[in-house]
Amino acid sequence: MKSFKIIKGDITTVKVDAIVNAANTSLLGGGGVDGAIHRAAGPELLDECRTLNGCATGEAKITKGYKLPAKFVIHTPGPIWQGGHHHETRLLRNCYENCLELAEEYKCQTVAFPSISTGIYHFPLDQAASIAVRCIHKFLSRSEQVKQIIMVCFDDRTKEAYEKANAVR
Ligand code: ADP
Repeated sequence: MKSFKIIKGDITTVKVDAIVNAANTSLLGGGGVDGAIHRAAGPELLDECRTLNGCATGEAKITKGYKLPAKFVIHTPGPIWQGGHHHETRLLRNCYENCLELAEEYKCQTVAFPSISTGIYHFPLDQAASIAVRCIHKFLSRSEQVKQIIMVCFDDRTKEAYEKANAVR
């Protein structure tokens, strides 16, 4: 049986096959969830990221999880919100789709996402939540390996936005 769950928590503590990192295009670490993931994984994560030569917005690259409870980290730079007329919607959709395709390729059964782009990158939360839940359900309906997807929200406001989006999708 496939399932989608929305929880409040810290993604660095979630034991799944793959967690997603809301990275930046350098893949060399940053603030927010990216910084937390690098701190928890240890310096070997940065060593592996240095070999990847960055990643374009909306694309995704995978590494090992090192000291994290997760086996893999899927890094995806979300779009920076620039008012909505710079392909932000399409790029955010690409993030979810490309991460899930990589998870499928690496035979991950369980995948956890943070709320990509809604922190430092300022994507409007309700819009981002709606895009995320639609991409996730669409993918789950046809995936072969991925069985469970968890949206890990760092605060109540984020969790409420994803719950609302999931209820009306
Ligand atoms: P972006 O640059 O893509 O906006 P941020 O890291 O600034 O990325 O924020 C994305 C979301 O991740 C925000 O909702 C932020 O509160 C959340 N976040 C920060 N730290 C964690 C964490 N340890 N686990 C899960 N979510 C986190």
